[in-house]
Amino acid sequence: MRKVNVAAVNIWEKTTRSLRTLRLDTMRGKFVAFAVLATLFTTLVMTVMLYGRNRRSLSDRVGQELRTLSSDMAREVDVWLDQRVYDLRLRASPYVVSDNLARASGRNAAQSLNRLRDYLNSVRQNLPAHEGLAIIGRDGQVLTSSGSRTGFRLTPDRLNNLRTRDALVGEPFWDATIGKAAIVLAVPIRQDDGLFLGALGAKINLDSLSDMLGQLSPDRSRDLYLITEQGRVIISSAGSPADVMKTTLPETTTRELSEREGQTIVQSRPKGREVVAVLRRIPQLHWAAVAETPRAETAREAGVLRFRTVLLLSTLILGVGLLAYMVGLFVTRPLERLTEAAARVAAGDLSVELPAGGGGEVGYLTRAFSTLVSRLREKEAHGELEKLSLTDSLTGLYNRRHLMGTLASEVQRSRRLRRAFAVLLADVDRFKQYNDTHGHLAGDSALVKIAEVFRKTTRQVDCVARYGGEEFVVMLLEANTETATLVAERIRGRVAEQDLGEGKLTLSIGVAEYPDGGDTPEELIATADAAMYKAKNAGRNQVVVAGIEQRPQETIEQRPQEKKPPRRKREA
Ligand code: GH3
Ligand code: MG
Ligand code: MG
Repeated sequence: MRKVNVAAVNIWEKTTRSLRTLRLDTMRGKFVAFAVLATLFTTLVMTVMLYGRNRRSLSDRVGQELRTLSSDMAREVDVWLDQRVYDLRLRASPYVVSDNLARASGRNAAQSLNRLRDYLNSVRQNLPAHEGLAIIGRDGQVLTSSGSRTGFRLTPDRLNNLRTRDALVGEPFWDATIGKAAIVLAVPIRQDDGLFLGALGAKINLDSLSDMLGQLSPDRSRDLYLITEQGRVIISSAGSPADVMKTTLPETTTRELSEREGQTIVQSRPKGREVVAVLRRIPQLHWAAVAETPRAETAREAGVLRFRTVLLLSTLILGVGLLAYMVGLFVTRPLERLTEAAARVAAGDLSVELPAGGGGEVGYLTRAFSTLVSRLREKEAHGELEKLSLTDSLTGLYNRRHLMGTLASEVQRSRRLRRAFAVLLADVDRFKQYNDTHGHLAGDSALVKIAEVFRKTTRQVDCVARYGGEEFVVMLLEANTETATLVAERIRGRVAEQDLGEGKLTLSIGVAEYPDGGDTPEELIATADAAMYKAKNAGRNQVVVAGIEQRPQETIEQRPQEKKPPRRKREA
């Protein structure tokens, strides 16, 4: 039981693996599979029908051919016999024959017989199939003959028959002296008044009948032969003539054939051969013509038919499969392009361009995708622009990025020239409260007004920037701590007395100087920030210079809240 299970699993795995190699998961694979299956189904049904019909018509055709052949043979033999009888009667009728025969028993018998022999010899020269001719007397004895090979005799019985008949046909026989099949034919010789005098007999070879059989089946694909009523074979299109004559068909075979004259029947022959055969009687001669063909031959023709059918089927399937593959390619190519493009977009590449994509669902999808990509591109461009801008959109002051850049180059310049410069970092006091009380918009407009104060109280060369939400930084060129403190105080004072719309606000400012307060923009900012926090902790609304602990000016009305420790270095 377990073994069976394992085998089943193996077969299943193999099947799924081969299905996977067919790539049926792809659209193209499905297309091809569908087309091939559909074609296979219809053509199989059609082929089975056509094949059946063709097979039937094939056996019909073979049967028809055999029937025609046997009829032709019978007719040809009939005509042949008529011709031979006619030939002979023509030679028996002249006066010279009857006259000399009448006198053959008289006084000048020897002379008459000589005349008759000369006559026979001259006749024989014109009738090549006539192996010998003889004049037979009323008593059945041969009176004279052409040549010496004519060794035949008519029994008185048979001769008597001739008295009332036109002709007499003997049994076919193998004549060893001439090495040919032959028959004896005799016609009566009568006087003018009708008196029966004797007979003209002839031994005739069957060569022309053999030739006729050969002509009827030139490619020897069919076996044709003549048999006697008893089934003895006379001549045949196959085999050596001498052996053929020794052959006799079994009685049952002959009977079956003659009982169903003109019909196709299947019979067994020696050595297990099966044949399809048709018999046609030749009444004049009590013979019959048989045409047959090995059954294997029709099977071979059926095999050819089957091969042609399979070839047609395979060509069809191959053709349709190829066509389906092309159609699949045609349909899936745009989808593949889309998939590829989507993967590129996912990887961050927005430079993808897709062809217009025509109509239909795929075309629509392609256009939608292209629109999506161009929107993304616009968005990215917008972001780039923002990155490129120098100023803060609310206050119009420089933004933090620009400030850090300017600070960096100023640090380098001042390092080279050994000059000092100062940085102020200002944070609005209790701005959250202002926001909460008067609203965010009021807070915004307060920030704009404070920024205005910064701009007005500094020089053009100084870089004033909005560093964060409500934090401002001023870089004062070529200013030492003292100058910077003065400027810081001026700013603090102006802001403090400025009406900002909904009230007033103050600033806490930290001052740091290059290089004492730091050697890099980040260090300088951190130092200023620390000083600003000291100002906050000392009660706000004041300026604290880094490194100088005492407060330059005391302006606190109330005790300041304890502020959190200085922030860590900010990142640019
Ligand atoms: P303090 O600095 O004196 O300690 O108190 P604060 O209330 O100012 O405290 P903090 O600096 O922590 O808070 C800053 C507030 O500023 C928080 C935020 O709501 C507000 N803010 C920051 N940026 C903007 C802005 O662009 N517009 C407005 N209206 N408010 C802002
Ligand atoms: Mg702040
Ligand atoms: Mg603040």
